[in-house]
Amino acid sequence: MSQTPTVGQTVHYVSYGTPGGEYPSVCRAAIVTEVSSYAPPQHADDDMQARCHLAVMNPTGMFFNEVDYGPQNVPGTWHWPESVDEPGQVEPEPEVWNPYRERAALVAYLAAVYPSAIVPNADPDEPNWPVIYVTTPQGQLSWHLSSDDLDLFPHVPVLDADQSPAWDGHTTAEKYERLARLVEAVSNVPGKA
Ligand SMILES: [Zn+2]
Repeated sequence: MSQTPTVGQTVHYVSYGTPGGEYPSVCRAAIVTEVSSYAPPQHADDDMQARCHLAVMNPTGMFFNEVDYGPQNVPGTWHWPESVDEPGQVEPEPEVWNPYRERAALVAYLAAVYPSAIVPNADPDEPNWPVIYVTTPQGQLSWHLSSDDLDLFPHVPVLDADQSPAWDGHTTAEKYERLARLVEAVSNVPGKA
């Protein structure tokens, strides 16, 4: 892409996910409020260097930040929106390693082994992230799922919040302690739990 950033353009800002991985890094809408520095690509394969002030619009609020242009999968950078940067020319999304999809695939296996339910609106703070509850002999486990990964869960019923098991209050640390105890119980090998 050789497009030059200018004030007022709509771009994508790559959010930081939470350290525990409950919320993945995603593209957010952002508007260029100032171009701090710009250098065009030096070679055909290079990217431009472009540091911009952005007004980043999250679903729940805005913030302002100065960030560098970068690849689509690097948190804390901006890039052109994936499919609208040049009318008539749609660039495919690059195949990037997606650890959240890999995690979702493992959760799908757990959900095939133990009674489970997906609740679309379980977390009022994150209405776009369905929650899966897995009921194991060591207690409840739960994860937020990306709607992009729901195709991995055709075997799990999708329930309204009033029909489903409620979150039992476990923390992320307790969840992984339960998972470790489950590994111990299934493998008969004492672990770190
Ligand atoms: Zn993007």
